[in-house]
Amino acid sequence: MSTLGSNTDFALAIEDLSVAFDGFKAIDALTLYIDRNELRVIIGPNGAGKTTLLDLICGKTRATEGSIKFKNEELTRLPEHARVRRGIGRKFQTPSIYENLSVFKNLEVSYPLGRSVLGAMFFRCTDAVLARVQVVAEEIGLAGMLEMEAGLLSHGQKQWLEIGMLLMQEPELLMLDEPIAGMSARERDLTAELLKRICKGRAVIVIEHDMDFVEKIADKVTVMHQGRILAEGSMDKVQNDPKVIDVYLGH
Ligand code: ADP
Ligand code: MG
Repeated sequence: MSTLGSNTDFALAIEDLSVAFDGFKAIDALTLYIDRNELRVIIGPNGAGKTTLLDLICGKTRATEGSIKFKNEELTRLPEHARVRRGIGRKFQTPSIYENLSVFKNLEVSYPLGRSVLGAMFFRCTDAVLARVQVVAEEIGLAGMLEMEAGLLSHGQKQWLEIGMLLMQEPELLMLDEPIAGMSARERDLTAELLKRICKGRAVIVIEHDMDFVEKIADKVTVMHQGRILAEGSMDKVQNDPKVIDVYLGH
C-alpha cells in the first residue's frame, strides 16, 4: 500500500528510497513505516545498508530516488540541521562528548538554546535548563554523576551521556547505530532498560546485531539485506523466516 502524497499517522514514512554510490545501490527501493511510539530494531548482515539508511534519514547522505516523510513532511531536500530542528536525533557509532567538561555541562550545552560550547560558557543556567538536565540525567542513569568530568566515565556511560545529549533536544525520532558495541554485559542490560524508558513518547530506531540484546528490546524487527527489506515482524517471526536463516547462515 503506497501512501505517496497522502497524510498518515506514521512518525516516519519511507517509500521507494534508493541511493547509489557509483552505480552500486546501497539502498534499493526500500519502503519502511515507523509508528510514533515504537522502538524498531533493524538488523542485517554487514553491508546490508543499515547505516546508510540512517544517513539518508538524518540528511548526511542525499537520496538518489524516493521519499522520506517525517510527520508527513518531505525531508529529502532538507539539509541535516533542518532535520535536527524538526526533531530528528541521530547517534553515531563513536561518541562525540566533550571529555573535558562535566556530565552536567555536556547536557547543558546540548539544550537547544546553547548550541555551541562557547555559547554555553556564557549561557546562564535557567530553571528550565536545570530541570531538563535533571530529567535527562535520570533517564540515562547518570543523575549521581553530574559533576564528574565526562572523560572519566566508563565506555558505556559515555554512550549514555551522548544519548542524553540528544534527549536534551527532545527528539521525536531518535536513531542509534549499534549502541551497545564495546559495552560490558551489565552495561548492555542497563542500556536495554534505558531504551525502553526513552522510547515512551517518541519513535526510536536501533540498529543492532547482538541477537540477545535485540531479543530483550525488540517489539518489531526489520531485517535488511542488500539494501532491501528481507523480512519484518516479531523477533520470533523473523528468526524463523527461511529467507532470514539463509542470509545469516550464508555469512
Ligand atoms: P551496514 O551498516 O548494514 O553494515 P552500510 O550502510 O555501512 O552497511 O553499507 C552498505 C553498503 O554501501 C556497503 O557496501 C558500503 O561499502 C556502501 N557504502 C556506504 N556508504 C558509502 C559511501 N559514502 N560511498 C560508497 N559506498 C558506500
Ligand atoms: Mg553499519
